[in-house]
Amino acid sequence: MSEYINVAEIFGENVFNDAVMMERLPKNVYKKLKKTIEEGTELDLATADVIAHEMKEWAIEKGATHYTHWFQPLTGVTAEKHDSFISAPMANGKVLMSFSGKELIKGEPDASSFPSGGLRATFEARGYTVWDCTSPAFVRQDAAGATLCIPTAFCSYTGEALDQKTPLLRSMQAINEQALRLIKLFGNTTSKKVTPSVGPEQEYFLVDEKKFLQRKDLIFTGRTLFGAMPPKGQELDDHYFGTIRQRIAGYMKDVNEELWKLGVSAKTQHNEVAPAQHELAPIYAECNVAVDHNQIVMQTLKRIACQHGMKCLLHEKPFAGVNGSGKHNNWSITTDDGINLLEPGKTPHENIQFLLVLACILKAVDTHADLLRESASDVGNDHRLGANEAPPAIISIFLGEQLEDVLEQLISTGSATHSLKGGKLFTGVTTLTDVNKDATDRNRTSPFAFTGNKFEFRMCGSRDSIAEPNTVLNTIVAEAFKEACDELEAADDFDLAVHDLIKKLATEHQRIVFNGNGYSDEWVAEAERRGLPNLKSMVDAIPALTTDKAVKLFSDFNVFTKAELESRVEIQYEAYAKAINIEAKAMIDIASKQIIPAVIKYTTSLAKSINTVTAACGADVSVQTELLTESSALLAETKKALVELTKVTEEAAGKEEGVEQATFYKDAVVPAMAALRAPVDELEMIVDKEMWPMPSYGDLLFEV
Ligand code: ADP
Ligand code: MG
Repeated sequence: MSEYINVAEIFGENVFNDAVMMERLPKNVYKKLKKTIEEGTELDLATADVIAHEMKEWAIEKGATHYTHWFQPLTGVTAEKHDSFISAPMANGKVLMSFSGKELIKGEPDASSFPSGGLRATFEARGYTVWDCTSPAFVRQDAAGATLCIPTAFCSYTGEALDQKTPLLRSMQAINEQALRLIKLFGNTTSKKVTPSVGPEQEYFLVDEKKFLQRKDLIFTGRTLFGAMPPKGQELDDHYFGTIRQRIAGYMKDVNEELWKLGVSAKTQHNEVAPAQHELAPIYAECNVAVDHNQIVMQTLKRIACQHGMKCLLHEKPFAGVNGSGKHNNWSITTDDGINLLEPGKTPHENIQFLLVLACILKAVDTHADLLRESASDVGNDHRLGANEAPPAIISIFLGEQLEDVLEQLISTGSATHSLKGGKLFTGVTTLTDVNKDATDRNRTSPFAFTGNKFEFRMCGSRDSIAEPNTVLNTIVAEAFKEACDELEAADDFDLAVHDLIKKLATEHQRIVFNGNGYSDEWVAEAERRGLPNLKSMVDAIPALTTDKAVKLFSDFNVFTKAELESRVEIQYEAYAKAINIEAKAMIDIASKQIIPAVIKYTTSLAKSINTVTAACGADVSVQTELLTESSALLAETKKALVELTKVTEEAAGKEEGVEQATFYKDAVVPAMAALRAPVDELEMIVDKEMWPMPSYGDLLFEV
């Protein structure tokens, strides 16, 4: 039996957290650092030197030999460069371990190989990593030994953001400032700070490592590019919340232990809808920390899987025909003294501050639906959105019966006089305690759902960073708050003005509210009538970043400059083109070197069998003949599709980089890939399993 874990004891043991800082830092240094963390005051170098020294001593006690500035460039994953603590050898041949304030605060990775979207030419390749003291440093233990990881932002020589964290931090400042104005209007002068809180629910698949290694598509692209459906899929719904198998349970235990040591509050785990699919959710944290923690979660899921002879697939759609993976981003805004601005209370109709916040969010999401959609776009996510397993690519808001009713009252009569109640849940069994029902049922099909005291943005992809969705959310809501405050601060009669404003916003943006089935075709038609954007693919969504509306929004709040937005557009097009190019080339490789040869072997063996049987006894060979005819026809179709895919892929490489190339990949290469996949998947159902060159969906999904 594995040993017992004392969670309270190990939690955060590898984090340079507040408790460690308080214990180890001199009082004045601790105070200065706290002030920087909480109020953003500048930190002087002498203070940084003391912090760096203590951080190093602490990390060495944990076995650390190296430190790294851990950052999130625009590749979607994190990056790090390791430096050891050793300093130049002394005269006696020994070395000292050193780490200065300067090294803590600023790093200079050779930045020219990270995507910059033209922001930084290679000849001016300087990029800096800058310590983000609001996300605690931690020691990670892995095959490389122990490393002190320092969360950092990554900027160019001229201060332009080259990463995910910088704009996120800027957006947190924006919403803090505007939310403080808003609550002040309602008489709150005691709260000093408003911070978005985020709880991301991470979905993932686990497959056996040996089988994974026999699938070149999984190795190169993270998803299967071929694969016929197994006899059993997810139709029985027997996996969702099912008992967790021992191998998986052992894995989850190790993942949790690692995460707890790193201060990530892994809380919930369960099997998901698809076979071999699971979910992990931490307790929500401050937005910036939650984003960093989610990166740690993804890395940990992958690393521990290898130790258990498995591979963790974070791709949004590893298997066609089976549910893919997403990441629900739960979001709320809370003051430093614990007031959640999204808490409606029992009688929301009387909670004017809540109604104003809600009306502002309706406006923000309606006005910038295209940006929110864009923030969740990712090459892999194109397979999910609108495919009856994830929300459609149309943004709408689910409010639930209670709030929708309050809103209706406001719109129709100008004032809300009552709130629907949840009541009791009656099971009809006297021994079961009566429990109180929520005032609102759930709606799993909405991309943006109000769930009690938070909004859940459900469009995000499983592999993607949640930095961008939260940057957008924080900024668009900051804008709506700002516009409301500008108006209300100038009003003579606040009560009257706020009442009118809520009614006006609710009326003007009612079209974004939808409580029905988001997976239905009727909704797609209805959304079109309402004029809501339906941006089906990532390529269609990218231009949202540089509309006049977006440029104004982001520059008004100093979240992105126009140049930064343009660079991101370029990076996204390039990322799309590159990903599809790799997939197409992997398909060409697999079809040419593995599938066609296997089918030829199979057809040859059939032909031989026909000849041998006929020569030996003249018995009926109609089955062999039929199979031979069928598989030969599919083989010819495969070859033809392969030639076509090769042709368009070469053509794509010659297109001008940017929108033209990405669009060509979407419109010409993606369909050519589907055309190649179709006959191959049919062949898989015919060809002798012994001869098929890779494990099947059944093998991958049901034999973990
Ligand atoms: P649900 O089942 O409603 O989706 P859970 O309680 O499982 O909700 O929570 C899902 C995620 O939402 C968790 O990460 C949780 O910590 C987070 N969460 C809960 N309350 C809030 C909140 N007020 N703000 C942000 N995230 C929250
Ligand atoms: Mg949820």
